[in-house]
Amino acid sequence: MNRSLGEGIVAELKGVNKTFLVPGPLPWNPRREVAAVCDFNLRLREGEVVALVGQSGSGKTTISRILLGLEEPTSGEVWLDGHRWDGLSEGARRPRRAAFQYVPQDAMAALDPQQSALDTVMETLRVLGGCSAPEAEEKAVAMLQRLGLGARRHALPREMSGGEQRRVTLARVLALEPRLVVADEPTSGLDPDRRHTVLEDLIGNLPPKAACVLVTHDMEEARDWCHRIYAMLAGRVIEEVDLHAGPPLHPYARLLFDPWSGPAPRHGLAPTGCPFSPDCPQASGVEGGRCSRERPSLRRGRADDHRIACHAGSSLEAL
Ligand code: SF4
Repeated sequence: MNRSLGEGIVAELKGVNKTFLVPGPLPWNPRREVAAVCDFNLRLREGEVVALVGQSGSGKTTISRILLGLEEPTSGEVWLDGHRWDGLSEGARRPRRAAFQYVPQDAMAALDPQQSALDTVMETLRVLGGCSAPEAEEKAVAMLQRLGLGARRHALPREMSGGEQRRVTLARVLALEPRLVVADEPTSGLDPDRRHTVLEDLIGNLPPKAACVLVTHDMEEARDWCHRIYAMLAGRVIEEVDLHAGPPLHPYARLLFDPWSGPAPRHGLAPTGCPFSPDCPQASGVEGGRCSRERPSLRRGRADDHRIACHAGSSLEAL
């Protein structure tokens, strides 16, 4: 991955929280609040690609949806290209919608079964990009050719392979020349070769000053394609790290990247203290049982651009 960073800020999340109301365990129990995301902060520079990693339910998808205005935060602020984005009506967002795009996980479900690859990209360019029909066709053909789908432009979704369907969803987004792309596990279900090609197509064809958020379970993808990683657990960032500057230090983030770095978790997440405390091999070394009593906050780690939420502090660097 070879993208240089600009000075401008494409997206910013400030102290974002999101809670959902869910039914109680029994029909007669009142509904209760569940925190999906807590105190999330993010600053994305021009050209930057960051990964959100973590297990299912860690809050990655909720953050992606909040970033694009598909979900409203309960509190906190969302800024895109210097404009406040949360709380706006859809009408107020519409003029800038084309600049902030989403690549869905399920490409087949996202495509109209009656539309060819060419029609799909053209329609997006006409509706969101404001292009005339001839202009939309010219741009759509050029983008499909760039992604190796020139000869397949008249194929319907059911006539395409899984990789081709995904490339159509990418063509649709990239043809709009977006400022921000949020890709929600764009390679899930593909074999390793196709995964690499899809990411090459996506990140290799982003406009130079566009930023990208990649939601992934695949740590190699995160390492190979991203400038920074946000490792998430139970709705919070537990480590923010540039993997090119050093490996993750948080015991849970280390397990995500290297399942052999410690025993496999056998318990659920703790409701108080550090959520990873029931399974953390380092918890016994932290004085006063702090891990099970006190939730660690995100603090500066080994460098200015490294932040970590763990009571074990600098002792993690010696592991
Ligand atoms: S705070 Fe304690 S339990 Fe949590 S990761 Fe750090 S050492 Fe482990």
